[in-house]
Amino acid sequence: MTKKTKRKHGLLVVVSGPSGVGKSTVVRRLLKLNKELRLSVSATTRPPRPGETHGEHYYFITQAEFDKKVKKHEFLEWAKVHGYYYGTLVDELKDQLAKGKVLVCEVDVQGAAALKQLVESGKMSAAAVFIFLIPPSVDILAFRLKKRKTEEEEVVNYRLRAAIAELQVMEKYDYIVVNDKVESAAEKIKAIINVEKERTLLN
Ligand code: ADP
Ligand code: 5GP
Repeated sequence: MTKKTKRKHGLLVVVSGPSGVGKSTVVRRLLKLNKELRLSVSATTRPPRPGETHGEHYYFITQAEFDKKVKKHEFLEWAKVHGYYYGTLVDELKDQLAKGKVLVCEVDVQGAAALKQLVESGKMSAAAVFIFLIPPSVDILAFRLKKRKTEEEEVVNYRLRAAIAELQVMEKYDYIVVNDKVESAAEKIKAIINVEKERTLLN
């Protein structure tokens, strides 16, 4: 029988993928399936969409506030995505990971690459797993982006072109999950987390 001790450094679960693939939707479902998971809430300069609340979906801040946080090194990574700024806050991750928690972080492909670099260089002492969400097809991705009705048609077309380019980096990730049905994609990620928790548990 193997003796397992408490996780020392926590597990960072990075969920990335092209805009409109369903990251937020799947991550929210995942958090309901596994109440032990914590979400890293990012800061953004994007205005809230209907139904989004400050502190739950994002910390909605001004450009000046964002710039101040960059200067004060309050972000682990930050990026400009489709015209707005988004950043992962050090404070959202540090304490939770130190307590050995499993933390889910939803970022674009630039954010995932930056986090990967921090983990691989040892600047961040946490185990991490990188998951890339893909649509069942490009046509379905286009349909979902349009269905969300949060952007003008021109923006949707721009995001779709960017998404196709973003799909090229998928081999850099540990796992690729197809978002066919929200429930099954969330279940697949839950199963991946269970495997990674076991694999990275310190003996
Ligand atoms: P992202 O966070 O990747 O930009 P969203 O979670 O906002 O994407 O999802 C984009 C749109 O696609 C939303 O309207 C959402 O309801 C829808 N959606 C997400 N996943 C699925 C799915 N598996 N099946 C059908 N529609 C989905
Ligand atoms: P949206 O405006 O649709 O909520 O998000 C746009 C993109 O920004 C999505 O791909 C989302 O994953 C990404 N994003 C959200 N938060 C962060 C973050 O903290 N850092 C980075 N790099 N990207 C983020």
